[in-house]
Amino acid sequence: MTATQAAPTTGDVVLEAENLTKHFPVRRGLRDLFTRERKAVHAVDDIQLTLRRGRVTALVGESGSGKSTVARLMAQLYTRTSGDIRLHGESVTVHGGRKFRAYCRQVQMIFQDPFASLNPVHTVRYHLTRALKIHGRAGTNSAELEQNLRDLLLRVQLTPPERYLDKFPHELSGGQRQRVSIARALGADPKALLADEPVSMLDVSIRLGVLNLLRDLKERLDLAILYITHDIASARYFADETLVMYAGRMVEGGDSETVTQHPAHPYTRLLIESAPDPDRLDRVGDPKDAPADEGGGEPPSLIAPPTGCRFHPRCVHAMPKCSTEHPPRFELPLVDSGQAHWAACWLYEEGAAK
Ligand code: SF4
Repeated sequence: MTATQAAPTTGDVVLEAENLTKHFPVRRGLRDLFTRERKAVHAVDDIQLTLRRGRVTALVGESGSGKSTVARLMAQLYTRTSGDIRLHGESVTVHGGRKFRAYCRQVQMIFQDPFASLNPVHTVRYHLTRALKIHGRAGTNSAELEQNLRDLLLRVQLTPPERYLDKFPHELSGGQRQRVSIARALGADPKALLADEPVSMLDVSIRLGVLNLLRDLKERLDLAILYITHDIASARYFADETLVMYAGRMVEGGDSETVTQHPAHPYTRLLIESAPDPDRLDRVGDPKDAPADEGGGEPPSLIAPPTGCRFHPRCVHAMPKCSTEHPPRFELPLVDSGQAHWAACWLYEEGAAK
């Protein structure tokens, strides 16, 4: 039996992707001029994603798995090859101009690098004022603007606001810069936040503070948040639902506790086994304790992705069918949470030997 994405228990749908696909054409070399073949990087294929108010959905996978491409497609920064994106149930395609600004008012993106996302020659006041003005939320006079600027900084817990308003990015720590980036995104009063590895460039000691801030915003502002990360442990802590991507495809999904505590797909298990675990530290270096990976840890080429299940060259459970037929999503038995859990793996086909 195939399954749809895990059914959340709360929250209206804000943003959805259906069969979202993105192939980037590869520039033709001299040798290709004599062939009709048009190569493309299959960055993302057939993605189903639903973001709901007041919920965090984590998209987890290793570098190059297509997570950031999904975020950029959802932000309409890339045009999609096929599939649909719906905002509040309405299909949307924008290429810039007024329509793009209207879309950005509802869907904002937070980038990985807070150093690059703020202009070093402008102050915090400039960045936030610009965001408020672009989205028509600057107020009608300078007193209202000042109050709105203060409110934004208070919302991201940069207090007292007057200490930060006239600072330049280089005068702030990485965590403070990321908070300013989040405040700028909130300047639009969005309904959905797409956070692309928002803490991966921050010191470990301040990551938790930024994740707690995002969680607080989710609860207080009822935001739908897409949290992109390669750190599956943080997904368990922070996200309500976790989806796992491998080589441009989603391979497993369900509520975060189930996916991280009862992983079903061999790739999800590999991700979890590869994460540092204090209980295994005394066995580091022991080849018997290395996570099972037939492919030596190498992700496949996305110009000519493996046929069938894209994980089959690395999978220790691969069967003949795995290299020829793409596995659909199979619904898995419910565990404690009672929420839907699925995996795209032939091991879960009825009657398959596990
Ligand atoms: Fe492994 Fe086959 Fe499952 Fe893919 S479908 S993860 S190759 S068992």
